[in-house]
Amino acid sequence: MASPLLHDRRVDTGAGYFTVRDDDFGALVDDWAARGLAHEWTDTFTVLRAGAEPESKSGPTRWGTPGGLRSLVRDLLRDVPVEQTDVDVLPAGHVVLAMPDPQASRLTEVPDAVPYDPVITVVLGLATASSLPFADAAFVQDDPDVEFLAVDGARRGDGAPVLVAHTTAERARRHLDDPDSAVAPVVEALRRLTGIAPPEWTHAHRWTYAKPSASHEASFGLVERDGRLIGFAGDQWCLEGSPRVESAWRSGSDLGAALAERLGA
Ligand SMILES: Cc1cc2nc3c(=O)[nH]c(=O)nc-3n(C[C@H](O)[C@H](O)[C@H](O)COP(=O)(O)OP(=O)(O)OC[C@H]3O[C@@H](n4cnc5c(N)ncnc54)[C@H](O)[C@@H]3O)c2cc1C
Repeated sequence: MASPLLHDRRVDTGAGYFTVRDDDFGALVDDWAARGLAHEWTDTFTVLRAGAEPESKSGPTRWGTPGGLRSLVRDLLRDVPVEQTDVDVLPAGHVVLAMPDPQASRLTEVPDAVPYDPVITVVLGLATASSLPFADAAFVQDDPDVEFLAVDGARRGDGAPVLVAHTTAERARRHLDDPDSAVAPVVEALRRLTGIAPPEWTHAHRWTYAKPSASHEASFGLVERDGRLIGFAGDQWCLEGSPRVESAWRSGSDLGAALAERLGA
């Protein structure tokens, strides 16, 4: 859930939206909605395939935010003292590692660590989004370069002509050393798929560990090592095997409850 400022406007460069299948998560989302922090975006995306007419595909309601998805993380942490720092040694005491397994593995052994696929996100500032063959977002099928496209102004609600493209893992792997070099092939893929004019500006972001390609068979991990507890959480800890914002929330919540019970809180 990353929403950096690009050209004076927040853009969702990681997760593009979230879904709500879990009742407990739904209660939290209702609260965000009541406070204007989140809104229902759409239940219909377009499916794009080279040489075929665009098709509409209905699915679950996708939610967006006016302030970028990161604003929801900030909201959850509003009463929690937070110190932001890169940790390179496992801290003392009980610890929760809520991050992709390869990142947690740098700090300690992760039980049955799962592998990940990369994505490079390319953000494109357009003169107008009106010539796109979709208003909200599109799943791209059978394309070697791009697999998802979203109009950031549509999901955020301000109408900005900012398009966000997520590459395929195959395309991303070729550019992990130099994410900016993914911009040209993505722009070319978009010209081929949508016929849009060259963008006014672009920005690339590398997600080396974007998607777990397998999942743990539990909603969290908890081990005792050297007399202290080490917890593992994240969207890879998901019984349904669907790595999403809501599964990451479920995982962290379940781990929190288990820790509270173990520690007698
Ligand atoms: C490109 C992309 C598109 C996505 N699209 C969607 C979508 O549309 N809908 C959806 O529901 N989900 C989507 N997801 C998945 C969603 O983003 C994840 O499910 C969710 O962010 C997982 O949350 P998490 O807390 O498990 O881990 P993360 O969000 O990965 O958070 C882990 C955090 O740990 C930090 N960290 C790692 N190592 C260290 C260290 N050593 N020291 C300090 N901090 C560290 C990282 O910087 C990061 O902030 C997408 C993900 C990506 C990458």
